[in-house]
Parts: sequence; structure tokens; C-alpha cells
Amino acid sequence: MDDEKVAIVTGSSRGIGKGIALTLAERGWRIAVNYQSNRQAAEEVQHAIESLGSNAILVQADMGKMNDLNRLVDDTLNQYQRIDLLVNNAGISPRQRMDMLHISQESYDEVMTVNLKGPFFLTQRVAKEMIHLLRTGVLTHPKIINISSISAYTSSTSRAEYCISKAGMGMMTILWADRLAEFGINVYEIRPGIIQTDLTATVKEKYDRLILEEGITPIRRWGQPQDVGKAVLAIAEDLLPFSTGEVINVDGGFHLRRL
Ligand code: NAP
Repeated sequence: MDDEKVAIVTGSSRGIGKGIALTLAERGWRIAVNYQSNRQAAEEVQHAIESLGSNAILVQADMGKMNDLNRLVDDTLNQYQRIDLLVNNAGISPRQRMDMLHISQESYDEVMTVNLKGPFFLTQRVAKEMIHLLRTGVLTHPKIINISSISAYTSSTSRAEYCISKAGMGMMTILWADRLAEFGINVYEIRPGIIQTDLTATVKEKYDRLILEEGITPIRRWGQPQDVGKAVLAIAEDLLPFSTGEVINVDGGFHLRRL
């Protein structure tokens, strides 16, 4: 059990982030539960973590606002004095799926800011804190995990801005992995496939058909938030110590080329 360790999980009030937070909490991790607007859902996650015997703080912070990102880090350090793991999970789809011939600059900017710019600068701030905490002997093997998507390499022309943001996250992972290796901070990218959350609720019927009838994934079921949580846990528990910049597909085999 890691009952001293602390993780910031962005967007952990719902969906995949919630699954990650609960999976870590089951193993004793203390969690900074970040949310944007849904305080009630965040409180439910906090209670669930406490009933697992662990501890959580709630931090409202919008990934698109730089002051909020700094406050997320400040509040976590004030409460726990350490950050062993950052999971950049929070992300949005375009408000409206639209043919890329017609997407607006507003939609492009919003998605890129929340999905890519926010995680980049949050990572920059957290990395500096981790380096300091390593030098003072508080941390031993801190890690950073970016939750991207199969959209990092799969074309969906009705949400181009989302795909571009996730592909960018792939390069962001490579860059931070390269820069932070000398300090002993490993960086990973997890690419979820089709996961059952609020994000995919609007296209549930389409994906039901694709998964269950057409077998778009060799493993014919929806992914669940806990599937991503378990991959995060493997990294968090230091089971991949000689890997950095690594991509882990949690997608039921979606990425396999098949004939
Ligand atoms: P979700 O169910 O819509 O939950 C999104 C979470 O992110 C919520 O906790 C939400 O907070 C938070 N959030 C949204 N905008 C935010 C912002 N500006 N600042 C801070 N937090 C914000 O989404 P999900 O399906 O769990 O997706 C989580 C991540 O996995 C995303 O990066 C997504 O792109 C990626 N992903 C999802 C799938 C999938 O099939 N679901 C597949 C591949 C990748 P509130 O509760 O306050 O709104």
C-alpha cells in the first residue's frame, strides 16, 4: 500500500478520472480531486475515497485558466506537501461535432486550450515542484501520465480539433519524457479507446453497434474507467521503471491493424 503518496488527477469528478482516482485510492493513494464545475460529483468521489480508507481534497480548477492550474498545485502542496503523480486526464470534446470544413476558431481554441495548453503548463509547474521535492529527499520516483486517446492517430473529420489536441499530447509526452529523465521522472501516455462515460453517452447507440455488432474492437465490449485506472496503477506502483515516453493502449485492441 502507498498510504503516503499523493496524486493529482485532473477531471476526476466523473468518468475516467473518477475511475483512476478510485483505483489509486483503493491502494492507499491520497488524491487531489480536480473538477471544473460539478462540485456535487466531486464530493461524491471524495466520500468514496474516504470510505476506501484514504483521503482526498477537492480543488475546483479550469484547465483553461493558468491561475487555476497554479492554485491546483498550491492547494495540493499546502495540504499534503508532496506530489508523487500527476495524471493529466481532464479533457473535452468539441461542444458541437462539426465537419472540419466548418469548425470555428472558437471551438478550436477551446479544445486546444483545455486538452493541450492546460496540461502542458500544469506539467511544467508540477515538474518543477517534483524536481525540488526530489532534491530535498521527499520523493523517490515521481511520475506523470497523460491521458490522450485513440484519436491521437485516428481521423474523425467531425472533431478535428479534438484529434489534433490528442496527437499534440503524444508529442508533449515525448518531450517531457526526454526533458525529465535526468531527474528520474518518468512520463507516460495512456491511449484509451471507447470508454463508457458521459463523454461518449451522446454517441452510445453508434458505438454499441460498432463494438457489439461490427466488432470494431477485437475485445468486443465497452471500456470502463477502471480499465484505465488499472493501467495508471501499474505505472504508479512503479511496475514500468525502465520505460519512459511509452504509449500504453487501453482500447480493447482497437489499434491493431486487421485483415
Ligand atoms: P467526462 O466523463 O466528460 O469527464 C470529464 C471530466 O473532466 C470531468 O471531471 C470534468 O469536470 C472535467 N473537466 C472538463 N472540462 C474541464 C476543465 N476545463 N477543467 C478541469 N476539468 C474539466 O470525460 P471522460 O470520458 O472521462 O474523459 C476523460 C479524458 O479521457 C479526456 O481527456 C478524454 O479526452 C479522454 N478519453 C476519453 C475517451 C472516452 O471514450 N470516454 C476515450 C479516449 C480518451 P466536471 O465534472 O466539473 O464537469
